[in-house]
Amino acid sequence: MSLATLVIKKVAVGDLQSNCIIVADTAVNQCLLFDCGDQHAKIMMNMRQIDDEMTPKAIVLTHGHFDHIQGVKGIKDAFPDVEVLINQEDVELYNKIEQQGKMFGMRTTPVPPHTGTIRHGDEISVGSVSFKAMHTPGHSPGSMCFYSEANKVVITGDTMFAGGQGRTDLWGGSGPTLKASLKELKKLPADTRVIPGHGDDSTIGRESRTPIYI
Ligand SMILES: [Zn+2]
Repeated sequence: MSLATLVIKKVAVGDLQSNCIIVADTAVNQCLLFDCGDQHAKIMMNMRQIDDEMTPKAIVLTHGHFDHIQGVKGIKDAFPDVEVLINQEDVELYNKIEQQGKMFGMRTTPVPPHTGTIRHGDEISVGSVSFKAMHTPGHSPGSMCFYSEANKVVITGDTMFAGGQGRTDLWGGSGPTLKASLKELKKLPADTRVIPGHGDDSTIGRESRTPIYI
């Protein structure tokens, strides 16, 4: 593909500042939205800044935690055809958004039903941009990462952060499982850009030198 048509925009949303990652191919004016944690209007404004006519093909969820999914309803209301994709093992969490919020003392926005599931090895694409889905459980049972070899980028949700990794003390989290997932991620090429679910970007090379402290 011509790299000039790929635009990646990271938008931090909500009280917990989770990243919504807009991956657009301007050749087709479509994008993928990796996580929609809150503030759908802010997400849509950022889509329009790429192009007035930009439409989302799919909302691709890295996992089902409330701070990554609360903006799904607003996007789905504005774009009824958008797909909402999540790993089967996090569907229960997704549907229990209200209970999740209560545990954190936060009110949550209900989510519309998901429209499909993502499995390890699936290809998720928009225009000529393609990502390979990697099942990376540990932070949650259905946590997923999305790797584009051609564009040297991996979207890691709350599995891997710049200088750290996700917590494992929430619903269905597991330290040993997360450790195994991080080891898999660290096999990617060192110059792969890491775009996490919160905070700044990193690279696989830098994170390979970050100790796993589980
Ligand atoms: Zn999370």
